[in-house]
Amino acid sequence: MPLQTYVRRITVLCAVFCFLGSGVYAQQAAAPAELTNEQVVKKLKDANERYWDGKMTHLHQDADRRKELIDDQHPFVAVLSCADSRVPPEVIFDQGLGDIFVVRVAGNVASKEAIASLRYIVEHGTKHVLVLGHESCGAVKTVLESLPPTKGKGVAAPAYMQSLVNLLLTPVRKAREESRFEDTLDNAVRENVVSVARGLAVSLEALRTKVTIIGGRYDLHSGKVQFWTGAWQPPPAAIH
Ligand SMILES: [Zn+2]
Repeated sequence: MPLQTYVRRITVLCAVFCFLGSGVYAQQAAAPAELTNEQVVKKLKDANERYWDGKMTHLHQDADRRKELIDDQHPFVAVLSCADSRVPPEVIFDQGLGDIFVVRVAGNVASKEAIASLRYIVEHGTKHVLVLGHESCGAVKTVLESLPPTKGKGVAAPAYMQSLVNLLLTPVRKAREESRFEDTLDNAVRENVVSVARGLAVSLEALRTKVTIIGGRYDLHSGKVQFWTGAWQPPPAAIH
């Protein structure tokens, strides 16, 4: 084969492969670089600030992003949050399609279904989990009010809430007994986040899978999320 023909064929082949390659990669969202725990918290803090400061980007909410995600997803964090309509994680963290993996259930409890859902995404590459409680949580409040007060009887939680009560009772009781803050409900919200985070550390085999677990409390008044990590002690004071 003459040299010129050979070179021409190689050039055509390269062009075809480059074209196909670029087409394939253009259709798939690349796996993001692995972030540290601190980087994830910073990313969430910055995103939350965009929200409460009225500077949301609304990124990743268009048709191009939808197409990128047809075959795969690489959310940088999983969020276990309450079902409360005032606390949608995608909104308060200014995130779009494929950015965060959200599991929502009243009281952000670690039900077996919630754990299984989180376990799924952890096994598929997401190494950070945020447990997000919020101010004035109705589920926590219901359980708190069901406890017998100093005098008289508590208001029994509805029967349909029993499975939630079972999961919320221990941290809510602890919060009331310790009365760390004047606001017992807020203390119970925080204690519940801590309790769930501790439980997830075991359920998700955090050490083996190298998962980090972050706690958070969303403030309905300001729109701000306070984060905490580490030894899973309640933070020293409420933010307002
Ligand atoms: Zn709630």
